[in-house]
This record gives sequence, structure tokens and C-alpha cells, in this order.
Amino acid sequence: MALAEKDIKEIEELFEKLGSMTLEEQRAKAPEMLKKLSPEQIEFIKQQQGGGQCPFCGIAKGEIPAKKVYEDSNFIAVLDINPGNPGHVIFLPKEHIAVLPQLSDDLTAKAFVLVKKLSGAVFDATNAQGVNILQNNGAVAGQTVPHLHIHIIPRFDDDKVRIEWDPLKLTEEQFEEMQKRISEKTKDFGKKVYDVSGNLVEEKENKKEEKKPEKKEDAPRIRRRRA
Ligand SMILES: [Zn+2]
Repeated sequence: MALAEKDIKEIEELFEKLGSMTLEEQRAKAPEMLKKLSPEQIEFIKQQQGGGQCPFCGIAKGEIPAKKVYEDSNFIAVLDINPGNPGHVIFLPKEHIAVLPQLSDDLTAKAFVLVKKLSGAVFDATNAQGVNILQNNGAVAGQTVPHLHIHIIPRFDDDKVRIEWDPLKLTEEQFEEMQKRISEKTKDFGKKVYDVSGNLVEEKENKKEEKKPEKKEDAPRIRRRRA
């Protein structure tokens, strides 16, 4: 989307003003100043600050060259430029989404069907003996680009790919505590559908469940913090 020159000038002037303020002044005045911008101008700033500089958004838009192996309206798959083995593919949504929990249920379903097919394609094309599907969320987990992506890595005997951890010894109590905490978070799975922002968009009837007395649902929680 192209902005008129005067709209861009307005944005530049606003940032100039903000830049000359102390942090405290910025905090006090920025919201009011941003309110004066049009939705198109806000979108322009977002592109500049976030998506605009993301290499995977660049690949998705065709602005950064990549060895494409699959594309549709929602997703693109390209060869990883730092491959673990020849034929190492990364698969990503075209929309800038940081981590998997932020992807809509609908796109997640589509994504995993495609990843399954891609893993078959990689298997066949490389004569691999195995394939890893690897998906890292957050820098601490090894996510190097903060745009959701899934690795499809063909594997061979004695290759140089290492995916490993030192197994911990947990007590029975520690296992039970984790089981309790995670089960608590999964008990509504299959009954509720959330959109990208974590808003409840659909609540499915589950007829086998006992009927609970009608009561107002709590506001839907965002299920995971942004990484
Ligand atoms: Zn991106």
C-alpha cells in the first residue's frame, strides 16, 4: 500500500517530535499524538518497524530471493540457507506471526497437512533415511527469526544434525505437579476455538459433557504470552 507523500511527512514529523522528548514525555504524549494518524498511516508504521524488516516477510512478499519449493495464498516453503542437510526446507505463514500459539486454529490445521506432505516430498526427493520436523518458539528455544517457521530436515546416517538434551531425573511429585498444571490448561481443548489474538471465536457444544448450569464465561484468556 502506497501512502501519499504528505502522509509520510506527517509520520516523520511525529517521530521527530517524539525523538526530541524525554521518555516520560513520550509516554505521556505519544498515545494522543498517534490518535491523530489514519489507520493507513498506523499500518505503514507497523510495516516499517516490524514486518518491513523481517527477512521471512521479505521472502513471503518475494522481496528477498529464496529457493522456493512450495507456495499458496497463506504459506510458502523455501530451502533453508543454513541447512542441516541438503534438502532442508523451512515452511512459514506469509502473515507475520511470531510463534505457533498465535497461529489461528484454521491455519494451523492447514499448515500441518502441508508440512506432512512436504516431509513426504523431502523424503522422496533426497532419499533420506529419516526426517525431523522442528519448530522453535522463542530465542531461548533456538528461534533465530521471530517469524513462525517449521523446519523439515532430511536425515542421514552420520550427518551433522544434533537435536538432543540431557534427560533430567524428576521425582514422582514433580511429574504429578506438571501433569496437573498442564492438564488444567488443556481441559477446554476441542471445545473452544481462538483466533490469532487469543479471542474466543467459537464455542462448540460437547453433548457428552454433563450439562453445567448456565453461567457467563470468563473473558477468553490469551493462552500464551508473546515470545
Ligand atoms: Zn515476518
